[in-house]
Amino acid sequence: MKQNNNNTWISWNENLKHNYEKIYSVSTEEELREVIASNEKIRFFGSKQSSADIAAGTDALIDMTSYNKIVSYDYNRRTITVQAGIILSELLEAIESVGWCIPCLPDINTITIGGALATGTHGTSGKLLCEYMTECRLILADGSIKTIDKDNKLMDAVRVSLGMLGVMSTVTFQCEPEYILHVKEKPENDKEWLPKIKSRLKEHNFLRILWLPHTDTGYVITGDKIDSNKEIVENQGPKYLKHRRTVSKILYKYSHKFPWITAIANKIIAKAFFNSKKEHKGSLYQATVTKSRGSTLELAEWTIALDKFPKVFQELKTEINKWSNKSFIHIPMDIRFVYEDKSWLSYAYGQDTVTMGCVSRNAATADTYEAFKSVEKIFIKHGGRPHWGKRFTAKDPQLSKVYPKWEAFKELREKLDPTNKFLNPYLTELVNAKVVVNEIA
Ligand SMILES: Cc1cc2nc3c(=O)[nH]c(=O)nc-3n(C[C@H](O)[C@H](O)[C@H](O)COP(=O)(O)OP(=O)(O)OC[C@H]3O[C@@H](n4cnc5c(N)ncnc54)[C@H](O)[C@@H]3O)c2cc1C
Repeated sequence: MKQNNNNTWISWNENLKHNYEKIYSVSTEEELREVIASNEKIRFFGSKQSSADIAAGTDALIDMTSYNKIVSYDYNRRTITVQAGIILSELLEAIESVGWCIPCLPDINTITIGGALATGTHGTSGKLLCEYMTECRLILADGSIKTIDKDNKLMDAVRVSLGMLGVMSTVTFQCEPEYILHVKEKPENDKEWLPKIKSRLKEHNFLRILWLPHTDTGYVITGDKIDSNKEIVENQGPKYLKHRRTVSKILYKYSHKFPWITAIANKIIAKAFFNSKKEHKGSLYQATVTKSRGSTLELAEWTIALDKFPKVFQELKTEINKWSNKSFIHIPMDIRFVYEDKSWLSYAYGQDTVTMGCVSRNAATADTYEAFKSVEKIFIKHGGRPHWGKRFTAKDPQLSKVYPKWEAFKELREKLDPTNKFLNPYLTELVNAKVVVNEIA
C-alpha cells in the first residue's frame, strides 16, 4: 500500500482544496479495511469530479482509484462484480465485450463506480445507476465488513449514501443484453417539446432535452431500440460541431463580469451548434455518453417530480429572462428523466423525476454565478432535491422536508458510525450531526 504525506488535495475543477496529513492508495480489501479501522477520521475519493465538498476534508484520505479490478462475471445471472474504484469506462467496456449493458448511463465515463453510486449518479429514461447494484460489500467504521444484497433491508439506505454509512468495497451489477439505439436529435421550440414530455417518455426508449436558456429552444434527443443490422442514414451534422465546448468557453469568458453577455452568446451558440438535425445509431454507451471534455466546469443539478416540472420550468424561465437580475445561464441545461425507486436518498424516491442541470463553463468564477442561487431557490420552493455530487447550499432543515427517509437515514448513520469517522465538516453540517466527545478531544 502506498502512502503520501502532507500535501493539498485538489478537486478536478480546482474549486475544492484541503490540506491532508496522509493519503493511502489501496489495492486490496484487506488494506482498505485496515486503513479504515486504524484512523479516527477518514474520507475516500474516486476521480474527484464532484462539485460538492463530500470527498475529502479529513487529515487521512483514501485514494480509491487503484482499487479497480474486475472481480468476476456470472454468465448465468448476467452480473459483474468489480472493485469500487474502477472507472466507469472500464466497467462499461468490460460488459460490452460480453454483449451486456447497464440500461441507464450518466454523461461522463471518467468517474469511479464508488463515487457514482455514493452520489446517486444517473442518466435518463431509466433508474439511478445504483438501482442496478444487486450486492455490495460495505466496510463499516469499525473495520468490519457487511455484505448487503438486494433482499437486505439496509440496501435501500446504502445505495445512495455519500460514503456516510461505510465504504463500498466490491459491487455487483445486474446487466441486461446490449441493445442498439437509433438516436435522433433536433431543435424544438419550448412550446413544442414541453407538452410532449410524457408522451415521448412512453414512445421512446431514450429521451433527453438540452435546454438552451434565453433562446426559447430545447434540443431534443430521442432514442429507439432497433435491430443492430438495420441500416440508417447517418448524419452527425457539420464537422465543426465538435468545437462547441471550446467556442462556448471563449464566448462566456467575460460573462462573470457582464452576465448579460450570456444571453447573446447563447443565441450564437444555439444557431451555430444546435440548429442541425442529427441521426446515428449505437449502443447506449457509444451513442449517448460524452467520452472527452477539453475543459473543466462547475455543475449544479436539481430534480423535481415529473408532474411538477412544467410549472417549475415556466417559473424558472420567467425568472432568468428578467434582465433585472443576473441569473443568466450558460448552455445547456440538461433535462433528463429518472423513474421512481425506493432508495432513501434517491432523487427519485417515491416519484418519477425530472432532473435539470445548471452549468457554469467558468469553474473558477462559479461563486459569482447568480444562476446557481436562483435555480436552487425555485426548486427548493417546489420541493426539489439537489444532486448530491453537485453544487447546492441546502442543508438538514431543507433536506428533511424533501426526503421522507431523511431522519431514518440520519439515525442509521449514527448507529453505523457513532464516532463520526466518515464525516468531514461539509457532511457534518449537511446531516446536522452531533459532535461526539472524542471529536472534541
Ligand atoms: C463533467 C461531469 C459530468 C457529470 N455527469 C453526470 C451525469 O450525467 N449524471 C449524474 O448523475 N452525475 C453526473 N456528474 C456527477 C458525478 O457523477 C458525481 O459527482 C460522481 O460522484 C463523481 O465520481 P468520482 O469518482 O469523481 O467521485 P468523487 O467526487 O471522488 O467522490 C464522490 C463521493 O463518493 C464517495 N465515494 C467514493 N468512493 C466511494 C466508495 N467506494 N464507497 C462509498 N463512497 C465513495 C466520496 O467519498 C464522495 O463522497 C457529472 C460530473 C461532471 C464533472
